[in-house]
Amino acid sequence: MAFEEQALRTETKAAWLQELRCLGCRARLHAGDGNVFCPVCGESWPVEDGIPRFISTFPYWGEIPQENMTEVLSQADKSWRTALLTSSDPSVKRASEMILNLDRANFSLLADLPPQSRVLDLGAGMGAISHSLAIRYGEVVAVEPVTERVSFMRRRFEQEGIRNVRIVQTSLWDLPFPDGSFDLIVMNGVLEWVATGRQGNPRRLQETALKSAARLLKTGGVLYVGIENRFTIGYFVGCRDPHSGMPWVTVLPRFLANFYARRKGAADGYRNYLYSRAGYEKLLRKSGFAAVDCYLAIPSYNHPKFYVPMDDRAFSYFLRTFSANATGLRQVIRRLMLRLGLAKHLEHSFALLATK
Ligand SMILES: [Zn+2]
Repeated sequence: MAFEEQALRTETKAAWLQELRCLGCRARLHAGDGNVFCPVCGESWPVEDGIPRFISTFPYWGEIPQENMTEVLSQADKSWRTALLTSSDPSVKRASEMILNLDRANFSLLADLPPQSRVLDLGAGMGAISHSLAIRYGEVVAVEPVTERVSFMRRRFEQEGIRNVRIVQTSLWDLPFPDGSFDLIVMNGVLEWVATGRQGNPRRLQETALKSAARLLKTGGVLYVGIENRFTIGYFVGCRDPHSGMPWVTVLPRFLANFYARRKGAADGYRNYLYSRAGYEKLLRKSGFAAVDCYLAIPSYNHPKFYVPMDDRAFSYFLRTFSANATGLRQVIRRLMLRLGLAKHLEHSFALLATK
């Protein structure tokens, strides 16, 4: 590579790093030799493999257990796709569909976003949503705290030839971005986890996280939240909450859920707060969003085949046309719930689009 070309590439590579802000004093960061640093307060953070690392000690979390991730990563050196598709590990097999599924970002088609939009994917995980959005929009910033998942995404985007995703290793609580800089912010399966391992009231923590998302959005920008419904019908008959692994906690009043969780050995009590549709709307409005559009994500926000507006006629049409296969008791219960106008409130999950 010619020297000028190399210099130009290094320069454009560093340009986006200089858009970042200091976590301490919010000054614009400078790109140094293997780091980014704050010219005002002197704080610095390493840049490895082109990825700024604002956090290095985040506990592992992922669909694939940590011990199996090492093997996946070594296979992914050659091909991230083959690493998933040829694995004989059951946890990898289970997770693969979700990691490969680019339809998980189809919620963005419900928002009116220009093609040059800047997107922030908070909790990007193994990169499926960032991958999909990078094909549709101008630039995607993929935020992920877990080192192994960051490494997986780097391989994935490199091998796919995707050049408009910037990976930033950091947590939801340390976001080095200027206010009003994104058209779309994605929180897919994230809001229910923000209080885990942190002190303080879970609802307050969720509100704080949402307020910081609101700050980072441009006026008219959209926040997407993909999340479970607190009142999913199964939770009333003892199905376990997938986050805490405990039954009953979602539907019980919070103080009882907390008491129950402690009795079951969860030292911090119940932290993974979910809400009803009305509950999410209230939370989002309180956090600075002007309007909230709520869709049912069916069968779930991580495997979305349908986004159905929460309107009686639309939902009834959906059930009759696409979901008429329920039989026996299920059929009877569903018809009853439909007649009572309750059915749409008992579905598994929501896709919420909140406008600033
Ligand atoms: Zn500073």
